[in-house]
Amino acid sequence: MMHQNPIASHVDTEEIPLTVDPLRQKSSKARVAAFVASVGEGNKFSKLEMLHAVPGVAQADRRMRDLREIGWTIDNYKNNPSLKPDEYLVRTIGVRVDLGEKPSVAVGRKVISGPKRRRIFDRDGNTCQVCFTAGGSEFADAPGKLARLTIGHIIPVARGGTDDDENLRTECQRCNEESRDATLNPPDKYEVLNRVRNVGGRADKLELFQWMQRGSRPLTDKEKVFTDWARLPISQRIELMAILSEEVELD
Ligand SMILES: [Zn+2]
Repeated sequence: MMHQNPIASHVDTEEIPLTVDPLRQKSSKARVAAFVASVGEGNKFSKLEMLHAVPGVAQADRRMRDLREIGWTIDNYKNNPSLKPDEYLVRTIGVRVDLGEKPSVAVGRKVISGPKRRRIFDRDGNTCQVCFTAGGSEFADAPGKLARLTIGHIIPVARGGTDDDENLRTECQRCNEESRDATLNPPDKYEVLNRVRNVGGRADKLELFQWMQRGSRPLTDKEKVFTDWARLPISQRIELMAILSEEVELD
């Protein structure tokens, strides 16, 4: 069983990535932290109030995520149905970066090395292991929006999950964000158990059990071939579709 470590203790501080200009990133995070702290625990604020208080800060949701990674708990309408889509509720004030406080033990996002990322992407067929959208493809329910792949932790780092291959999987940015939100508001085990019991017959349950053992859902041959097709140049994709369309009609 995993221990519920409140904070990942095995992460070194120097592993916090500085993918964006560090000064700009730091100052906007600190300014947002100062504003959210001024709202206070137990109080709500709106996106508009934040934009007024912290001019020039774009992407409110992204900034909230930055803070969540350093111990702040900020609800939004996705994990707290009592909130309106533009409202936030401050539940816990985390590391006061605005006051110069540093996360003593890193709770930040960790860097997975390039070779390791490629190995995981390869293993997973360059496909999100949550929604099975191939990297660079459109989301089935959001035409025009392309899946960008990232590496996610199956057991979140904040709950003691490791960087071992078995705990890593390919996720699209959308599922990655959702799974991080979900860690703030985890599903109830009895509710999950009920749903497990309602999954089809014995064969379906056995398959589900095997996915659980594996920690991910394996790609079927059909899904794998789709993934590879999606990686072909557009002219070749169309060519293969033309061939297949004739074969499908023959049936
Ligand atoms: Zn996905």
